[in-house]
Amino acid sequence: MYRQPTIYLNFLTSKAKASLFQNPNPTIMKTLHCRDAGFDCEAVVKATTEEEVLNQAAVHAQTVHGVTVTPELAAGIKSLIRDEPA
Ligand SMILES: [Zn+2]
Repeated sequence: MYRQPTIYLNFLTSKAKASLFQNPNPTIMKTLHCRDAGFDCEAVVKATTEEEVLNQAAVHAQTVHGVTVTPELAAGIKSLIRDEPA
């Protein structure tokens, strides 16, 4: 019973290290939930910058939903991006 908390802490530590390596701010990621854009879809795009979220969302929309992201759509998507813990 006493081993489980140790394993959990080890997992958190390695995850925190991975985040530090990729992100100058290790706790917050720019996050877009695909369903917030009106799709019946559980995909979540996370990146360190809004621009990267938009890039990944554009690829996702095109490949998964067959939707081309126009500048107007991109502006709408940008307003849906939130800050969430990594
Ligand atoms: Zn989607």
